[in-house]
Amino acid sequence: MNMSLAAIGETIWVLGVVAWYVVRYPFERRAKRVRVVTNRRSFLDMFGLVAASLGMAVVPGFYVATGIPQAADYAARAWAIAIGAILFFTAVWLFRRTHKELGKNWSITLEIRDKHHLVSGGPYALVRHPMYTSFLLMALGQALLLSNWVVALAGLIGFALLFFLRVDKEERMMLDTFGTSYREYMDRTKRLIPYIY
Ligand code: SAH
Repeated sequence: MNMSLAAIGETIWVLGVVAWYVVRYPFERRAKRVRVVTNRRSFLDMFGLVAASLGMAVVPGFYVATGIPQAADYAARAWAIAIGAILFFTAVWLFRRTHKELGKNWSITLEIRDKHHLVSGGPYALVRHPMYTSFLLMALGQALLLSNWVVALAGLIGFALLFFLRVDKEERMMLDTFGTSYREYMDRTKRLIPYIY
């Protein structure tokens, strides 16, 4: 089989997204069974979720299926595909770690569940939002695996909207729920990138 570099990048992206969903699916099912006690779902948060889904699933998925918008294509490079693959699969691995660590405390939006406890171990010992770190790695991986400007920007903008529309409200909700424990946790961790931000 003689695949073009671009097709290799696309295939890796598809495999990565499938792996991502294999990780997520059981948590979606389980989470439905745990009662929600606080709900801070807002229009802006939902908007961020839709933007991230569009930028990281719909736009790249449509591109892989149809090649549109072809005018924004650029030449695929082996180094970009290799780094993209590493970033994407690191992201899926981290995504799995965060789900395992959050367990029944996981929620797709801003919610506190019955018997919610503050998770601060594993990847949560380094940053407060390691799942969002995994989304950032995924958006960067997408930009390198799929050689198209529109697709690359869609993923990065989708991630940025989800993260920046949500993070302050999420931390506010955690502070309201866990008080000084979360304040102390904030004092010893960064948000997204260990030691940096
Ligand atoms: N921002 C985190 C979690 C994303 S899932 C991350 O990026 O890894 C979103 C839900 O996780 C929120 O609604 C909140 O209920 C819960 N959550 C966020 N941080 C948490 C923590 N440190 N411990 C327990 N639950 C947390």
